[in-house]
Amino acid sequence: MTRTYAEFRRQRERGEIRCLQVVQEFLHRIESRRNLNAFITVTAEAALQAAEESDARFDAGAPRPLEGCVVAVKDNISTRGARTTCASRILENFVPVYDATAVERLRAAGAIIVGKTNLDEFAMGSSTEYSAFGPAHNPHNPDYVPGGSSGGSAVAVAAELCHVALGSDTGGSVRQPAAFCAVIGFKPSYGRISRYGLVAFASSLDQIGVFAHTVEDVASVLDVISGYDVHDATSLPEPPTQSRKVIEEPLVEELRLGVLPEDVLRDCHDEVYACYHRCLKALRAAGVHFTTVTLPYSHLWVPTYYIIATAEASSNLARYDGIRYGLRVPIGEGDDVITATRTAGFGAEVKRRIMMGTYVLSAGYYDAYYRKAQKARRLIAEAYAQSFASVHALLLPTSPIPPFRLGERMEDPIAMYLADYFTVSANLAGIPAISLPAGWTADGLPIGLQLQAPYGADARLLRYARSCLRVWQQNTNSSGPI
Ligand code: GLN
Repeated sequence: MTRTYAEFRRQRERGEIRCLQVVQEFLHRIESRRNLNAFITVTAEAALQAAEESDARFDAGAPRPLEGCVVAVKDNISTRGARTTCASRILENFVPVYDATAVERLRAAGAIIVGKTNLDEFAMGSSTEYSAFGPAHNPHNPDYVPGGSSGGSAVAVAAELCHVALGSDTGGSVRQPAAFCAVIGFKPSYGRISRYGLVAFASSLDQIGVFAHTVEDVASVLDVISGYDVHDATSLPEPPTQSRKVIEEPLVEELRLGVLPEDVLRDCHDEVYACYHRCLKALRAAGVHFTTVTLPYSHLWVPTYYIIATAEASSNLARYDGIRYGLRVPIGEGDDVITATRTAGFGAEVKRRIMMGTYVLSAGYYDAYYRKAQKARRLIAEAYAQSFASVHALLLPTSPIPPFRLGERMEDPIAMYLADYFTVSANLAGIPAISLPAGWTADGLPIGLQLQAPYGADARLLRYARSCLRVWQQNTNSSGPI
């Protein structure tokens, strides 16, 4: 069986394989890899039915753009008729009555949804350990975390339980697990993909993103799910991307990449640092130009992110009150249903975020924290815009550390937050970014590197990513589609 949708499609068009057979095989693999805890819900019956329809479309010679593409969807993205839990007790039995726009567009293009994947509760975390359904495990070593919060989607692609997967990225939750699992993870420009039906965590940072084995597959999915959506006032008023075409075009000029000054990289884990320099050297040898860019506010990335993200989360999560939908805890005389439901329904990390967010928004501290964070955010975005005046994209690590052991960072939330050092700034600036598999630690754990591009340059970023991957693959003598 092939790992990528593009290769499957070629085989299906030649009549060498059938969609039904592929879906059955994926379902079988999902069962045999249950230990990874990648899925919260598997929608086997609906997937088998959709596969039959896809086969009929191929047989009739009228396949749609993603016909037969098997997709796993993070369980904070709304799926009509299939429960959407956000890995929280508070939504444990919640079944949406509508599809997220991204899901609706996938289905309309012939994609097959195979199930809903595990995550940190409400996408808050960097390891998929904060899930009410238990942690997901790294397929390259199950004693290690797969990253998070979209850990289940990264595992599903890495362990070949689907062709591609959707995740959400508020501060790195697509890119960081992609790096930890050795797959590609793409976060588009803010507004490129509709957020309608993505359960809100921090609305000004949230974006749906894509996991795949190849840039080509990422592009195929992006071209289907991007584009203006009347249901999301923050979606870009532009037609869907044509990135499949753009990634095939030759680069008109030599690629110019920006690198961060050594002092910003110095705190990285040794093996991440070594991998970064190895990849940089290979690109330089292949003719890529490098310029050191100074991003003067990098020390503010993490604190700014955690103020804005928690502030927005505390507001967004106010809707879970035990009254309108989701969990409702039975109470005794004189008890308060809202408090009882939220106390029982939310996990510790979500409660921590709600409390931090409420604090930074409170009348006494708003000016000291929230207002300052908004100013810092503007400076961070402007610094990016300035650096892109001289380079096409920036190359930086995805995570300062390789995958860590399950449990290792659970007792220390600050250590967990620092794992997001290189990812949160792209969300603060709204720019597109992609994590690419770049190497392995001596223990056989994956390391990813990240490219970040100017706002709106999503298709071009995919083009650059493909060039870099080509060089790295030539260097490691590995072959395979990119
Ligand atoms: N790890 C970050 C956090 O915990 C990012 C989460 C995300 O991107 N959803 O907030």
